[in-house]
Amino acid sequence: MDGGCACGAVRYRLSDTPMVVHCCHCTRCQTETGSAFVINAVIEHDRVELLAGVPEPVLTPSDSGRGQEVFRCPTCRVALWSHYSVPTAAFVRVGTLDAPGALPPDVHIFTRSKLLWVRLPEGAKAYDGFYADPGEVWSAEARVRWKVLVGG
Ligand SMILES: [Zn+2]
Ligand SMILES: [Zn+2]
Repeated sequence: MDGGCACGAVRYRLSDTPMVVHCCHCTRCQTETGSAFVINAVIEHDRVELLAGVPEPVLTPSDSGRGQEVFRCPTCRVALWSHYSVPTAAFVRVGTLDAPGALPPDVHIFTRSKLLWVRLPEGAKAYDGFYADPGEVWSAEARVRWKVLVGG
């Protein structure tokens, strides 16, 4: 799966399927994207292969207070992925993929601030805030990959 920024200076390839895909309706994601929600594919950062360009980290406020690094194209400044508390995990902005429809969300989070006109698909997994039990959302295989990633 390939993707890139708006100007084409940065191109990347996901060399594996993501562990999980979040659709986040929190107010910060709304502010950052200027839209209703963000779709993030969570994947090991070393499985995001750069084909062209080098995204630049921009420190952006986060609710934890530690901030998150949002990696943006140095030219057009489109956000491609970010790192939260785990620097080896990339949260790839699914909308930057050439075929974003290939990665529908596994879960909707922070639906307490979901815009009223956004209707979730019938049967979609949804949580008011963040889910407490990853076992409800992540596959067993993905949880093993996460454990390896955080060195647990
Ligand atoms: Zn660009
Ligand atoms: Zn969010």
